[in-house]
Amino acid sequence: DWRHDAHVLEEHLQHAYVLGCKVLGQGHVATYIPELARADAYAFGLAAQRTDGTMVCCGDVDTRFSVQSVGKVMSLAMALKIFGTEEVFSHVLMEPSGDSFSSIIKLDTKSDLPFNPLINAGAIQVVSLLANHVEFSDILKFARRMCQDEDIELNEPVYRSEALTGDRNRAIAYLLKSKGVLMAEPDLTLDLYFKLCSMNVTAKSLATLGLVLANDGQNPMTGEHIISPRHARAINSIMFTCGMYDGSGEFGVKVGIPAKSGVGGGIACSVKGRMGIGVYGPALDEKGNSVGGLASLEYLSHALHLHVFDYH
Ligand code: GLU
Repeated sequence: DWRHDAHVLEEHLQHAYVLGCKVLGQGHVATYIPELARADAYAFGLAAQRTDGTMVCCGDVDTRFSVQSVGKVMSLAMALKIFGTEEVFSHVLMEPSGDSFSSIIKLDTKSDLPFNPLINAGAIQVVSLLANHVEFSDILKFARRMCQDEDIELNEPVYRSEALTGDRNRAIAYLLKSKGVLMAEPDLTLDLYFKLCSMNVTAKSLATLGLVLANDGQNPMTGEHIISPRHARAINSIMFTCGMYDGSGEFGVKVGIPAKSGVGGGIACSVKGRMGIGVYGPALDEKGNSVGGLASLEYLSHALHLHVFDYH
């Protein structure tokens, strides 16, 4: 039984890695900021960490890359911890948007509140809630705890690049302000948001992030309760429906694991009660998801019965 035998997991992870490597040529690195365009399209790594703390790895699992939209899980977790579920979801909805991550269209036509905390508009809104209460150093500290990774730092070139080219995010923040829903000044909010996206993580850090979410918000190695089970459940639910951009529905059918991806090539997956999986693969599909990551996770889900709606 793979649950008891790390070797079974290791074998399947290696196979998943090979399958992921095969499709890397079909993807493209993100180019919306120059810093991301410099990533190696053939870099790829998978890390899986079980609830007993065992970490199984393949490929580029120690390479640092910017967390990008996976950071939206951290800002949501922090906001839930500080303000509670009711307060947070009075400022942002919990519905999939079906639009691409930085879409602004529904924000002006369908709803005054952003659709969910894992798209740009929703994350900017959540960060505006945090902005009057915390500084970036607090977010960094929280990210280090969630990922059990003291080496997470701000990637300065990525941050500068984000800030320089973030006009669409500025448009979102100012639109939210014009509707009277943004909770802090747009420029303060955006600065924090750009920094949130620019934290440097590894596939291993994302595996631990996923593991904490899979383990009711508790780090099983240290015993530390980082967020409450109720908040972990809320985050897993939103990751399941909204975590993979406008590919979340298909990912839900094919892979069926709560996950969040970012355009830096990262994916954090939370396999309830079993493990966290971290991916690094900057070659992306047209929706912004790591192509290698998608192929590997689909295989792993089948091989290890990880789909939440599998019968065991
Ligand atoms: N910093 C990126 C942006 O806001 C995040 C994009 C992403 O990873 O989806 O445009």
